[in-house]
Amino acid sequence: MDTLSTPDAHGDIREAVRALCAGFPPEYHREVDEARAYPEAFVEALTKAGWLAALIPEEYGGSGLGLTEASVIMEEINRSGGNSGACHGQMYNMTTLVRHGSDWQRRTFLPEIASGELRLQSMGVTEPTAGTDTTKIKTTAVRRGDRWVINGQKVWISRVQHSDLMILLARTTPLDRVAKKSDGLSIFLVDLREAIGRGLAVQPIRNMVNHETNELFFDDLEIPAENLIGEEGEGFRYILTGLNAERALIAAECIGDGYWFVDKVTAYARERVVFGRPIGQNQGVQFPIAESFIELKAADLMRYEACRLYDAGRPCGAEANMAKYLAAKASWEAANACIQFHGGFGFAAEYDVERKFRETRLYQVAPISTNLILSYVAEHMLGLPRSF
Ligand SMILES: Cc1cc2nc3c(=O)[nH]c(=O)nc-3n(C[C@H](O)[C@H](O)[C@H](O)COP(=O)(O)OP(=O)(O)OC[C@H]3O[C@@H](n4cnc5c(N)ncnc54)[C@H](O)[C@@H]3O)c2cc1C
Repeated sequence: MDTLSTPDAHGDIREAVRALCAGFPPEYHREVDEARAYPEAFVEALTKAGWLAALIPEEYGGSGLGLTEASVIMEEINRSGGNSGACHGQMYNMTTLVRHGSDWQRRTFLPEIASGELRLQSMGVTEPTAGTDTTKIKTTAVRRGDRWVINGQKVWISRVQHSDLMILLARTTPLDRVAKKSDGLSIFLVDLREAIGRGLAVQPIRNMVNHETNELFFDDLEIPAENLIGEEGEGFRYILTGLNAERALIAAECIGDGYWFVDKVTAYARERVVFGRPIGQNQGVQFPIAESFIELKAADLMRYEACRLYDAGRPCGAEANMAKYLAAKASWEAANACIQFHGGFGFAAEYDVERKFRETRLYQVAPISTNLILSYVAEHMLGLPRSF
């Protein structure tokens, strides 16, 4: 009984992605996790089938779909037991290039990204000292002739070892010489194949999830002048486009995780008999599962609203943030119910619950922490005084 599938306009996409994911059963994802490896075969299959090029316009070889459809793809990956974290960068980084890249950049890079010859999986924003206070980043890019010279440090930059290109945020005008602190930041396309070992050093960070993420050290890295994306000094505003898309997509991934947890725990609670009856007959077991299911459904609606606004080219910062908040919270509640009602077996790797539990926990912190979303809503939607 699949009481959880929501009939919607995207049934064809859901079925096709589910069929692909069925070729990568739980054992596959478990083995990749245990080996702390990258799911190469899975990402390659998604790329070859064209799913990761969903947001690239058809004229550049993509399928020209909207963020709504892209979010359904990501949701189905997580709902199947996989983890979109290995490849979601390709989706949202694309939006920055599609919306703000020059004609030359779009013509040069998008067709090869669409065909899978090039991977655009990385975005370098976070820095060790600035943290969430992005306008305080210290990485600089200085124009020298036909090159930009980059110096500084980044942290938690994901998929660098499985990407050919990276979108990088750097300061091009010092903070004390700009009218607004969000001015004077610019974004660049860095060709990682040329940069690593020639001004860019990569130091992997071992972490709780099997998520390839790194510290980056820039020491006089030179990149061609034409790799600046859009106007110099406007990078903060451009990066927000990508971040809104990222939040909506990650909301969808959390929703996929949440449904996976609810499916898993309801199946177990029907079967597991203790004290002479299925544990799912006890309301103490039913209610936390039902509660997380209700919250997932509500998060799902906000996800569609954020995507609808994004696809219509309208502001969606508030909705993307709220969707990410609701979905990350709901998936975490579902994860807690799932591990709790599996009893000891929730901790056994072969049930996959502990792996998904770790994976979904990340989204309370990254790509934006829950507190920062609350402060956005308080300030921008409720008009409360700015706190920082
Ligand atoms: C596995 C992983 C992958 C990542 N991948 C990427 C990536 O590919 N690219 C990238 O650029 N970044 C990436 N990140 C970084 C991620 O976006 C940041 O970790 C996240 O935004 C939080 O920033 P921070 O770690 O600097 O926390 P901090 O800014 O130091 O904040 C720490 C805590 O304090 C709270 N806090 C801070 N200020 C306030 C305040 N004013 N009011 C209330 N609470 C506050 C925050 O909510 C947070 O919980 C990744 C992180 C992880 C863990």
